[in-house]
Amino acid sequence: MDRRHFIGNSAAALGLLAGFSGQARANLQKAEILVIGGGYGGATAAKYLRLFSNNTAKVTLIEPNASFVSCPLSNLVVGGSRTLSEITTPYDNLSKRHGVKIIQDSVASIDTDKKTVKLASGKTLRYDKAVVSPGVTLMMNSIEGLAQANKAGVTLQAWKAGPETVALHKQLASMRDGGTFAISIPEAPYRCPPGPYERACQVANYLKQNKPKSKVLILDANQDVTSKGALFKKVWAEQYAGMIEYLPKYNVTAVDAKTKTVKFEVQDDIKADVLNLLPAMSAGEIAVKTGLANANGRWVNVNFLNFESTAQKDIHVLGDSIQIAPAMPKSGHMANQHAKVAAAAIVAELSGWEINPAPVLTNTCYSFVNEKEVVHVASVHQYNAAEKTFKTVPGSGGLSPAPSTLEGVYAWGWAHNIWADSLG
Ligand SMILES: Cc1cc2nc3c(=O)[nH]c(=O)nc-3n(C[C@H](O)[C@H](O)[C@H](O)COP(=O)(O)OP(=O)(O)OC[C@H]3O[C@@H](n4cnc5c(N)ncnc54)[C@H](O)[C@@H]3O)c2cc1C
Repeated sequence: MDRRHFIGNSAAALGLLAGFSGQARANLQKAEILVIGGGYGGATAAKYLRLFSNNTAKVTLIEPNASFVSCPLSNLVVGGSRTLSEITTPYDNLSKRHGVKIIQDSVASIDTDKKTVKLASGKTLRYDKAVVSPGVTLMMNSIEGLAQANKAGVTLQAWKAGPETVALHKQLASMRDGGTFAISIPEAPYRCPPGPYERACQVANYLKQNKPKSKVLILDANQDVTSKGALFKKVWAEQYAGMIEYLPKYNVTAVDAKTKTVKFEVQDDIKADVLNLLPAMSAGEIAVKTGLANANGRWVNVNFLNFESTAQKDIHVLGDSIQIAPAMPKSGHMANQHAKVAAAAIVAELSGWEINPAPVLTNTCYSFVNEKEVVHVASVHQYNAAEKTFKTVPGSGGLSPAPSTLEGVYAWGWAHNIWADSLG
Protein backbone atom coordinates (compact mmCIF):
# COMPACT_ATOMS: atom_id res chain seq x y z
CA MET A 1 0.00 0.00 0.00
CA ASP A 2 1.46 3.39 -0.91
CA ARG A 3 1.38 6.50 1.28
CA ARG A 4 -1.45 8.11 -0.70
CA HIS A 5 -3.72 5.05 -0.23
CA PHE A 6 -2.85 4.78 3.46
CA ILE A 7 -3.72 8.42 4.05
CA GLY A 8 -6.87 7.98 1.97
CA ASN A 9 -8.08 5.07 4.11
CA SER A 10 -7.28 6.82 7.38
CA ALA A 11 -9.06 9.93 6.16
CA ALA A 12 -12.13 7.85 5.25
CA ALA A 13 -12.26 6.48 8.80
CA LEU A 14 -11.69 9.89 10.34
CA GLY A 15 -14.39 11.33 8.09
CA LEU A 16 -16.87 9.42 10.23
CA LEU A 17 -16.01 11.66 13.13
CA ALA A 18 -17.06 14.76 11.21
CA GLY A 19 -20.51 16.40 11.62
CA PHE A 20 -23.78 14.46 11.80
CA SER A 21 -27.04 15.70 10.28
CA GLY A 22 -30.08 15.82 12.59
CA GLN A 23 -31.69 12.76 10.93
CA ALA A 24 -28.46 10.73 11.08
CA ARG A 25 -28.03 11.58 14.75
CA ALA A 26 -31.63 10.55 15.46
CA ASN A 27 -31.16 7.18 13.73
CA LEU A 28 -27.97 6.48 15.62
CA GLN A 29 -29.44 7.51 18.95
CA LYS A 30 -32.47 5.27 18.42
CA ALA A 31 -30.47 2.19 17.55
CA GLU A 32 -29.75 -0.43 20.23
CA ILE A 33 -26.33 -1.93 19.54
CA LEU A 34 -25.41 -5.00 21.57
CA VAL A 35 -21.84 -6.28 21.56
CA ILE A 36 -21.52 -9.91 22.65
CA GLY A 37 -18.09 -10.80 24.02
CA GLY A 38 -15.50 -8.38 25.42
CA GLY A 39 -12.34 -9.90 23.94
CA TYR A 40 -10.04 -8.43 21.29
CA GLY A 41 -12.89 -8.06 18.79
CA GLY A 42 -15.82 -7.12 21.02
CA ALA A 43 -14.09 -4.65 23.36
CA THR A 44 -12.59 -2.79 20.38
CA ALA A 45 -15.94 -2.73 18.57
CA ALA A 46 -17.75 -1.35 21.63
CA LYS A 47 -15.23 1.48 22.04
CA TYR A 48 -15.01 2.37 18.35
CA LEU A 49 -18.80 2.32 17.87
CA ARG A 50 -18.88 5.10 20.44
CA LEU A 51 -15.89 6.97 18.96
CA PHE A 52 -17.04 6.76 15.34
CA SER A 53 -20.56 7.90 16.28
CA ASN A 54 -19.29 10.93 18.18
CA ASN A 55 -20.51 9.20 21.35
CA THR A 56 -24.12 9.18 20.16
CA ALA A 57 -24.73 5.43 19.57
CA LYS A 58 -26.18 3.36 22.44
CA VAL A 59 -23.68 0.57 22.92
CA THR A 60 -24.04 -2.26 25.44
CA LEU A 61 -21.26 -4.79 25.95
CA ILE A 62 -22.17 -8.20 27.39
CA GLU A 63 -19.23 -10.14 28.83
CA PRO A 64 -19.20 -12.71 31.66
CA ASN A 65 -15.68 -11.97 32.93
CA ALA A 66 -14.99 -9.12 35.35
CA SER A 67 -11.79 -8.15 33.52
CA PHE A 68 -9.98 -8.81 30.26
CA VAL A 69 -7.19 -11.41 30.35
CA SER A 70 -4.99 -11.42 27.25
CA CYS A 71 -4.18 -14.64 25.41
CA PRO A 72 -1.21 -12.91 23.74
CA LEU A 73 1.65 -13.14 26.27
CA SER A 74 -0.20 -15.81 28.28
CA ASN A 75 2.43 -18.36 27.20
CA LEU A 76 4.88 -16.43 29.42
CA VAL A 77 2.56 -17.20 32.36
CA VAL A 78 2.59 -20.90 31.39
CA GLY A 79 6.41 -20.70 31.32
CA GLY A 80 6.44 -18.98 34.72
CA SER A 81 8.33 -15.80 33.77
CA ARG A 82 5.24 -13.54 34.05
CA THR A 83 2.05 -13.42 36.12
CA LEU A 84 -1.61 -13.33 35.10
CA SER A 85 -2.00 -9.87 36.65
CA GLU A 86 0.53 -8.46 34.15
CA ILE A 87 -1.75 -9.45 31.25
CA THR A 88 -5.08 -8.45 32.88
CA THR A 89 -6.90 -5.15 32.16
CA PRO A 90 -10.13 -3.95 33.79
CA TYR A 91 -13.12 -3.05 31.61
CA ASP A 92 -14.05 0.12 33.50
CA ASN A 93 -12.48 2.63 31.05
CA LEU A 94 -14.96 1.50 28.42
CA SER A 95 -17.80 2.75 30.59
CA LYS A 96 -16.05 5.66 32.35
CA ARG A 97 -14.28 7.19 29.37
CA HIS A 98 -16.41 6.04 26.47
CA GLY A 99 -19.95 5.60 27.79
CA VAL A 100 -20.28 1.91 26.90
CA LYS A 101 -22.88 0.20 29.10
CA ILE A 102 -21.35 -3.02 30.44
CA ILE A 103 -23.42 -5.99 31.58
CA GLN A 104 -21.46 -8.73 33.31
CA ASP A 105 -23.38 -11.75 32.05
CA SER A 106 -23.33 -14.12 29.13
CA VAL A 107 -25.74 -14.48 26.23
CA ALA A 108 -27.62 -17.76 26.43
CA SER A 109 -29.49 -17.42 23.12
CA ILE A 110 -30.24 -15.02 20.28
CA ASP A 111 -33.69 -14.83 18.70
CA THR A 112 -32.94 -13.53 15.22
CA ASP A 113 -36.64 -13.16 14.29
CA LYS A 114 -37.53 -11.02 17.28
CA LYS A 115 -34.04 -9.45 17.34
CA THR A 116 -33.57 -10.13 21.03
CA VAL A 117 -30.91 -11.83 23.13
CA LYS A 118 -31.56 -13.75 26.30
CA LEU A 119 -28.96 -13.47 29.05
CA ALA A 120 -27.95 -16.36 31.32
CA SER A 121 -29.47 -14.37 34.19
CA GLY A 122 -32.83 -14.54 32.38
CA LYS A 123 -33.12 -10.94 31.17
CA THR A 124 -34.08 -10.25 27.53
CA LEU A 125 -32.57 -7.37 25.54
CA ARG A 126 -33.63 -6.01 22.16
CA TYR A 127 -31.14 -5.13 19.42
CA ASP A 128 -31.13 -3.29 16.11
CA LYS A 129 -27.54 -4.36 15.50
CA ALA A 130 -25.67 -7.14 17.27
CA VAL A 131 -21.91 -7.52 17.14
CA VAL A 132 -20.86 -11.06 18.03
CA SER A 133 -17.21 -11.77 18.94
CA PRO A 134 -17.27 -14.87 21.16
CA GLY A 135 -13.85 -16.30 20.23
CA VAL A 136 -13.55 -20.04 19.67
CA THR A 137 -15.12 -23.23 20.98
CA LEU A 138 -12.67 -26.02 21.78
CA MET A 139 -14.26 -29.11 20.18
CA MET A 140 -13.50 -31.43 23.09
CA ASN A 141 -15.41 -34.31 21.50
CA SER A 142 -13.03 -34.36 18.53
CA ILE A 143 -10.55 -36.26 20.76
CA GLU A 144 -11.99 -39.33 22.48
CA GLY A 145 -11.66 -39.06 26.27
CA LEU A 146 -10.54 -35.42 26.23
CA ALA A 147 -13.64 -33.93 27.86
CA GLN A 148 -13.39 -36.40 30.76
CA ALA A 149 -9.61 -35.90 31.07
CA ASN A 150 -10.13 -32.14 31.22
CA LYS A 151 -12.91 -32.45 33.78
CA ALA A 152 -10.64 -34.60 35.93
CA GLY A 153 -7.92 -31.91 35.65
CA VAL A 154 -5.55 -34.37 33.94
CA THR A 155 -5.33 -32.50 30.64
CA LEU A 156 -5.58 -28.73 30.44
CA GLN A 157 -5.84 -26.63 27.30
CA ALA A 158 -5.23 -23.08 28.60
CA TRP A 159 -6.23 -21.78 25.15
CA LYS A 160 -8.44 -19.12 26.75
CA ALA A 161 -6.24 -17.19 29.15
CA GLY A 162 -7.28 -17.31 32.81
CA PRO A 163 -7.17 -19.79 35.69
CA GLU A 164 -6.24 -22.72 33.38
CA THR A 165 -3.13 -20.82 32.28
CA VAL A 166 -1.93 -20.68 35.90
CA ALA A 167 -2.99 -24.30 36.52
CA LEU A 168 -0.95 -25.47 33.52
CA HIS A 169 2.13 -23.70 34.88
CA LYS A 170 1.56 -25.48 38.22
CA GLN A 171 1.46 -28.86 36.44
CA LEU A 172 4.74 -27.98 34.74
CA ALA A 173 6.30 -26.85 38.01
CA SER A 174 5.35 -30.09 39.76
CA MET A 175 6.54 -32.35 36.91
CA ARG A 176 9.52 -34.55 37.77
CA ASP A 177 12.91 -33.74 36.22
CA GLY A 178 13.24 -36.17 33.31
CA GLY A 179 9.51 -35.95 32.59
CA THR A 180 7.78 -35.18 29.28
CA PHE A 181 5.48 -32.26 28.49
CA ALA A 182 3.42 -32.95 25.35
CA ILE A 183 1.51 -30.30 23.43
CA SER A 184 -0.72 -31.29 20.53
CA ILE A 185 -1.83 -29.01 17.69
CA PRO A 186 -4.99 -29.53 15.60
CA GLU A 187 -5.14 -29.10 11.85
CA ALA A 188 -5.28 -25.43 10.81
CA PRO A 189 -7.26 -23.21 11.00
CA TYR A 190 -7.14 -22.78 14.78
CA ARG A 191 -6.75 -19.81 17.17
CA CYS A 192 -3.27 -18.24 16.85
CA PRO A 193 -1.16 -20.23 14.35
CA PRO A 194 2.24 -19.61 16.09
CA GLY A 195 0.81 -19.88 19.64
CA PRO A 196 1.52 -23.60 20.26
CA TYR A 197 5.12 -23.33 19.00
CA GLU A 198 5.67 -20.27 21.22
CA ARG A 199 4.26 -22.27 24.14
CA ALA A 200 6.67 -25.14 23.44
CA CYS A 201 9.54 -22.58 23.63
CA GLN A 202 8.26 -21.14 26.93
CA VAL A 203 7.89 -24.59 28.48
CA ALA A 204 11.36 -25.61 27.27
CA ASN A 205 12.82 -22.34 28.59
CA TYR A 206 11.40 -23.16 32.02
CA LEU A 207 12.61 -26.78 31.89
CA LYS A 208 16.09 -25.78 30.73
CA GLN A 209 16.50 -23.69 33.89
CA ASN A 210 14.66 -25.93 36.36
CA LYS A 211 14.41 -29.54 35.12
CA PRO A 212 17.07 -29.94 32.42
CA LYS A 213 16.60 -33.70 31.93
CA SER A 214 13.02 -33.15 30.73
CA LYS A 215 11.56 -33.11 27.24
CA VAL A 216 8.93 -31.22 25.23
CA LEU A 217 7.07 -33.11 22.51
CA ILE A 218 5.20 -31.13 19.85
CA LEU A 219 2.55 -33.40 18.33
CA ASP A 220 1.40 -31.51 15.24
CA ALA A 221 -1.50 -32.72 13.08
CA ASN A 222 -0.24 -30.41 10.32
CA GLN A 223 2.33 -31.30 7.65
CA ASP A 224 4.79 -28.77 9.03
CA VAL A 225 5.05 -25.80 11.43
CA THR A 226 2.17 -23.50 10.39
CA SER A 227 3.79 -20.13 11.18
CA LYS A 228 7.36 -18.75 11.38
CA GLY A 229 8.55 -22.32 10.68
CA ALA A 230 12.18 -21.68 9.81
CA LEU A 231 12.61 -19.31 12.77
CA PHE A 232 11.10 -21.72 15.30
CA LYS A 233 13.09 -24.69 13.97
CA LYS A 234 16.33 -22.71 14.22
CA VAL A 235 15.54 -21.74 17.82
CA TRP A 236 14.70 -25.36 18.73
CA ALA A 237 18.02 -26.51 17.26
CA GLU A 238 20.11 -23.73 18.79
CA GLN A 239 18.47 -23.07 22.17
CA TYR A 240 16.60 -26.29 22.99
CA ALA A 241 18.63 -29.04 21.26
CA GLY A 242 17.75 -32.46 22.69
CA MET A 243 14.87 -30.96 24.65
CA ILE A 244 12.21 -30.06 22.05
CA GLU A 245 11.19 -32.81 19.64
CA TYR A 246 8.91 -31.81 16.76
CA LEU A 247 6.64 -34.52 15.32
CA PRO A 248 4.61 -33.43 12.24
CA LYS A 249 1.53 -35.30 10.92
CA TYR A 250 0.71 -36.62 14.42
CA ASN A 251 -3.06 -36.38 14.58
CA VAL A 252 -4.36 -37.10 18.10
CA THR A 253 -7.54 -39.21 18.13
CA ALA A 254 -7.87 -40.25 21.79
CA VAL A 255 -6.46 -39.79 25.29
CA ASP A 256 -6.51 -42.12 28.28
CA ALA A 257 -6.59 -39.93 31.39
CA LYS A 258 -5.64 -42.78 33.77
CA THR A 259 -2.41 -43.74 32.01
CA LYS A 260 -1.76 -40.31 30.40
CA THR A 261 -1.50 -42.01 27.03
CA VAL A 262 -2.20 -40.28 23.71
CA LYS A 263 -3.42 -42.20 20.66
CA PHE A 264 -2.94 -41.15 17.03
CA GLU A 265 -4.51 -41.79 13.64
CA VAL A 266 -1.34 -43.51 12.38
CA GLN A 267 1.54 -43.64 14.86
CA ASP A 268 2.09 -45.68 18.05
CA ASP A 269 0.76 -44.40 21.41
CA ILE A 270 2.79 -41.88 23.40
CA LYS A 271 2.82 -41.34 27.19
CA ALA A 272 3.64 -38.01 28.81
CA ASP A 273 3.69 -36.51 32.31
CA VAL A 274 1.91 -33.27 31.39
CA LEU A 275 -0.58 -33.28 28.52
CA ASN A 276 -1.59 -30.02 26.86
CA LEU A 277 -3.91 -31.29 24.13
CA LEU A 278 -5.46 -28.68 21.82
CA PRO A 279 -8.50 -30.05 19.99
CA ALA A 280 -9.98 -28.78 16.72
CA MET A 281 -11.76 -25.45 17.10
CA SER A 282 -14.91 -23.78 15.81
CA ALA A 283 -16.67 -20.43 16.15
CA GLY A 284 -17.74 -19.48 19.69
CA GLU A 285 -20.65 -21.53 20.98
CA ILE A 286 -23.25 -18.76 20.79
CA ALA A 287 -22.45 -18.21 17.08
CA VAL A 288 -22.81 -21.93 16.31
CA LYS A 289 -25.99 -22.21 18.39
CA THR A 290 -27.56 -19.25 16.58
CA GLY A 291 -26.99 -20.94 13.22
CA LEU A 292 -24.37 -18.44 12.10
CA ALA A 293 -21.65 -21.05 11.42
CA ASN A 294 -22.44 -21.58 7.75
CA ALA A 295 -18.87 -22.50 6.70
CA ASN A 296 -18.57 -26.28 7.29
CA GLY A 297 -20.74 -25.88 10.38
CA ARG A 298 -17.64 -24.49 12.09
CA TRP A 299 -16.99 -20.89 11.09
CA VAL A 300 -19.11 -17.85 10.20
CA ASN A 301 -19.10 -16.47 6.66
CA VAL A 302 -19.21 -12.69 6.68
CA ASN A 303 -19.42 -9.88 4.16
CA PHE A 304 -15.90 -8.51 4.50
CA LEU A 305 -17.03 -4.90 3.91
CA ASN A 306 -19.00 -4.72 7.15
CA PHE A 307 -18.49 -8.14 8.83
CA GLU A 308 -22.22 -8.85 8.67
CA SER A 309 -23.01 -12.55 8.86
CA THR A 310 -24.15 -13.97 5.51
CA ALA A 311 -26.63 -16.12 7.47
CA GLN A 312 -28.35 -13.33 9.47
CA LYS A 313 -28.93 -9.67 8.72
CA ASP A 314 -27.90 -7.15 11.39
CA ILE A 315 -25.56 -9.57 13.13
CA HIS A 316 -21.92 -8.67 12.61
CA VAL A 317 -19.34 -11.31 13.56
CA LEU A 318 -15.69 -10.60 14.35
CA GLY A 319 -12.45 -12.23 15.32
CA ASP A 320 -11.68 -15.91 15.62
CA SER A 321 -15.27 -16.98 14.88
CA ILE A 322 -15.21 -15.99 11.22
CA GLN A 323 -14.29 -18.00 8.15
CA ILE A 324 -11.00 -16.30 7.35
CA ALA A 325 -9.88 -14.78 4.07
CA PRO A 326 -6.76 -16.33 2.49
CA ALA A 327 -3.64 -15.85 4.69
CA MET A 328 -5.68 -14.07 7.38
CA PRO A 329 -4.63 -15.36 10.83
CA LYS A 330 -7.00 -15.92 13.74
CA SER A 331 -5.27 -13.36 15.95
CA GLY A 332 -6.05 -10.68 18.50
CA HIS A 333 -4.54 -8.02 16.25
CA MET A 334 -6.80 -9.16 13.40
CA ALA A 335 -9.90 -9.21 15.65
CA ASN A 336 -9.10 -5.61 16.65
CA GLN A 337 -8.91 -4.67 12.96
CA HIS A 338 -12.17 -6.48 12.06
CA ALA A 339 -13.82 -4.51 14.88
CA LYS A 340 -12.81 -1.12 13.48
CA VAL A 341 -14.04 -1.93 9.96
CA ALA A 342 -17.34 -3.26 11.37
CA ALA A 343 -17.82 -0.32 13.75
CA ALA A 344 -17.21 2.21 10.96
CA ALA A 345 -19.60 0.33 8.63
CA ILE A 346 -22.37 0.07 11.28
CA VAL A 347 -22.17 3.78 12.08
CA ALA A 348 -22.15 4.60 8.36
CA GLU A 349 -25.14 2.36 7.68
CA LEU A 350 -27.19 3.79 10.57
CA SER A 351 -26.32 7.28 9.38
CA GLY A 352 -27.33 6.60 5.78
CA TRP A 353 -23.79 6.97 4.48
CA GLU A 354 -21.88 4.77 2.08
CA ILE A 355 -19.56 2.31 3.76
CA ASN A 356 -15.85 2.30 3.01
CA PRO A 357 -15.51 0.25 -0.21
CA ALA A 358 -11.79 -0.53 0.29
CA PRO A 359 -10.93 -1.41 3.90
CA VAL A 360 -7.36 -2.35 4.82
CA LEU A 361 -6.30 -4.55 7.75
CA THR A 362 -2.88 -5.02 9.31
CA ASN A 363 -1.52 -7.82 11.46
CA THR A 364 1.60 -8.28 13.56
CA CYS A 365 2.23 -11.30 15.67
CA TYR A 366 5.16 -11.54 18.09
CA SER A 367 6.35 -14.86 19.57
CA PHE A 368 8.64 -15.11 22.59
CA VAL A 369 11.21 -17.87 22.07
CA ASN A 370 12.56 -17.45 25.63
CA GLU A 371 11.88 -14.83 28.33
CA LYS A 372 13.33 -11.96 26.32
CA GLU A 373 13.95 -12.83 22.68
CA VAL A 374 11.17 -12.47 20.14
CA VAL A 375 10.38 -13.08 16.47
CA HIS A 376 7.53 -11.49 14.52
CA VAL A 377 5.48 -11.93 11.38
CA ALA A 378 3.54 -9.01 9.87
CA SER A 379 1.13 -8.59 6.95
CA VAL A 380 -1.23 -6.08 5.32
CA HIS A 381 -4.57 -7.23 3.85
CA GLN A 382 -6.62 -5.18 1.38
CA TYR A 383 -10.24 -5.75 0.33
CA ASN A 384 -10.45 -7.07 -3.22
CA ALA A 385 -13.81 -5.98 -4.67
CA ALA A 386 -13.72 -8.42 -7.61
CA GLU A 387 -13.23 -11.45 -5.33
CA LYS A 388 -15.09 -10.00 -2.31
CA THR A 389 -12.34 -11.04 0.06
CA PHE A 390 -9.17 -9.68 1.66
CA LYS A 391 -5.86 -10.36 -0.07
CA THR A 392 -2.38 -9.72 1.27
CA VAL A 393 -0.75 -6.69 -0.31
CA PRO A 394 2.28 -7.86 -2.33
CA GLY A 395 5.54 -6.81 -0.71
CA SER A 396 3.88 -5.85 2.59
CA GLY A 397 4.78 -7.20 6.00
CA GLY A 398 7.59 -9.67 6.57
CA LEU A 399 9.39 -11.83 9.07
CA SER A 400 12.17 -11.25 11.60
CA PRO A 401 15.61 -12.29 10.34
CA ALA A 402 16.39 -13.78 13.78
CA PRO A 403 15.19 -13.58 17.40
CA SER A 404 16.22 -10.43 19.30
CA THR A 405 15.75 -8.77 22.67
CA LEU A 406 14.85 -5.51 20.89
CA GLU A 407 11.83 -7.27 19.42
CA GLY A 408 11.01 -8.35 22.98
CA VAL A 409 10.68 -4.65 23.87
CA TYR A 410 8.52 -4.09 20.77
CA ALA A 411 6.33 -7.07 21.71
CA TRP A 412 5.51 -5.60 25.13
CA GLY A 413 4.97 -2.22 23.42
CA TRP A 414 2.54 -3.87 21.00
CA ALA A 415 0.65 -5.47 23.89
CA HIS A 416 0.34 -2.28 25.96
CA ASN A 417 -0.73 -0.34 22.86
CA ILE A 418 -3.42 -2.79 21.76
CA TRP A 419 -4.80 -3.08 25.32
CA ALA A 420 -4.98 0.76 25.45
CA ASP A 421 -6.55 0.85 21.97
CA SER A 422 -9.23 -1.73 22.80
CA LEU A 423 -9.88 -0.97 26.47
CA GLY A 424 -8.23 2.32 27.39
C1 LIG B 1 -1.52 -18.84 23.83
C2 LIG B 1 -2.05 -17.82 22.88
C3 LIG B 1 -1.20 -16.83 22.40
C4 LIG B 1 -1.68 -15.88 21.50
N1 LIG B 1 -0.82 -14.90 21.05
C5 LIG B 1 -1.28 -13.95 20.20
C6 LIG B 1 -0.42 -12.89 19.79
O1 LIG B 1 0.75 -12.82 20.17
N2 LIG B 1 -0.93 -11.94 18.96
C7 LIG B 1 -2.22 -11.96 18.53
O2 LIG B 1 -2.64 -11.06 17.81
N3 LIG B 1 -3.07 -12.98 18.90
C8 LIG B 1 -2.62 -13.96 19.71
N4 LIG B 1 -3.48 -14.97 20.14
C9 LIG B 1 -4.83 -15.07 19.53
C10 LIG B 1 -5.85 -14.15 20.19
O3 LIG B 1 -5.93 -14.38 21.56
C11 LIG B 1 -7.24 -14.39 19.57
O4 LIG B 1 -7.12 -14.40 18.17
C12 LIG B 1 -8.19 -13.27 20.00
O5 LIG B 1 -8.41 -13.38 21.40
C13 LIG B 1 -9.50 -13.34 19.23
O6 LIG B 1 -10.37 -12.32 19.65
P1 LIG B 1 -11.94 -12.62 19.75
O7 LIG B 1 -12.60 -11.33 20.09
O8 LIG B 1 -12.37 -13.36 18.55
O9 LIG B 1 -12.05 -13.64 20.96
P2 LIG B 1 -11.65 -13.45 22.49
O10 LIG B 1 -10.57 -12.45 22.64
O11 LIG B 1 -11.44 -14.82 23.03
O12 LIG B 1 -12.95 -12.86 23.14
C14 LIG B 1 -14.13 -13.60 23.23
C15 LIG B 1 -14.92 -13.06 24.42
O13 LIG B 1 -16.28 -13.44 24.28
C16 LIG B 1 -16.79 -13.80 25.54
N5 LIG B 1 -17.94 -14.66 25.28
C17 LIG B 1 -17.95 -15.90 24.74
N6 LIG B 1 -19.21 -16.36 24.65
C18 LIG B 1 -20.02 -15.39 25.15
C19 LIG B 1 -21.43 -15.28 25.35
N7 LIG B 1 -22.26 -16.27 25.02
N8 LIG B 1 -21.91 -14.15 25.90
C20 LIG B 1 -21.08 -13.12 26.24
N9 LIG B 1 -19.74 -13.18 26.07
C21 LIG B 1 -19.22 -14.30 25.54
C22 LIG B 1 -15.61 -14.46 26.24
O14 LIG B 1 -15.76 -14.44 27.65
C23 LIG B 1 -14.44 -13.62 25.76
O15 LIG B 1 -14.14 -12.56 26.63
C24 LIG B 1 -3.04 -15.92 21.07
C25 LIG B 1 -3.88 -16.92 21.56
C26 LIG B 1 -3.40 -17.86 22.45
C27 LIG B 1 -4.33 -18.91 22.98
